[in-house]
Amino acid sequence: MDIRERQFLEKEIPHFQREIKNLYRKFDREFGLHGAEVPIKFSFEENVLGSYSPKSEMTQEHFTFSLYFISFMNKDPMHHLDKIDLYAHEYAHYMQYHYEIPQKHLWQPGKHGSAWKYCCSLVGAAPTEFYRIGEGLKKHDYEKALYNPHADKNYVLKDRRSQEQMYEDKRRRVIQYAVGEEIEHPKYGKGIIEEIKPYDRGVHLNIRFKDESKLIDQAWLARTRYKKRT
Ligand SMILES: [Zn+2]
Repeated sequence: MDIRERQFLEKEIPHFQREIKNLYRKFDREFGLHGAEVPIKFSFEENVLGSYSPKSEMTQEHFTFSLYFISFMNKDPMHHLDKIDLYAHEYAHYMQYHYEIPQKHLWQPGKHGSAWKYCCSLVGAAPTEFYRIGEGLKKHDYEKALYNPHADKNYVLKDRRSQEQMYEDKRRRVIQYAVGEEIEHPKYGKGIIEEIKPYDRGVHLNIRFKDESKLIDQAWLARTRYKKRT
């Protein structure tokens, strides 16, 4: 970006400043907050659209928005609703620090975790971490975004079952026989293990009996009393 482009964009600052503050004042009235009083900085960042920085030892609390993005991105102006979505996204970050989040929305940690998504649902921001063109124009599925699988009894049961299944599968994949080992089958009689073939849920044994070769599941052989001959 050359100097003239930058100067042109800088002239737009008061306009964006007003646009953002107006929106934040509206949110502030609704939620009893003071986001519109937080200073807004503008950058020419080409990778970061916006950010919220909470007060720290190093910095004052502030928002930053990239003029590069809110003015033109790839020479296409950002759609008005995408711009509003960007502002609301950052306001939701501000809310995370200043608004009381109900306990049930604290299950997922992280900057873009459940608390932030809950704030998004309040201000109408897309509950997605990354910017996608046109996201601001869509209807957002908050029910899905705010869904806590761990609070759902059915989910926990399903999860437990799948963990048990995983454990069982793992157990079944432990090879219990060796090539060359002799076994005794109730129907086919004496056999010799010729090949061991592990698969995703267990182990198949290729066994040579007197007349033919058979593929037999190790679990079956181990479960019956026709175990290894020792
Ligand atoms: Zn974010």
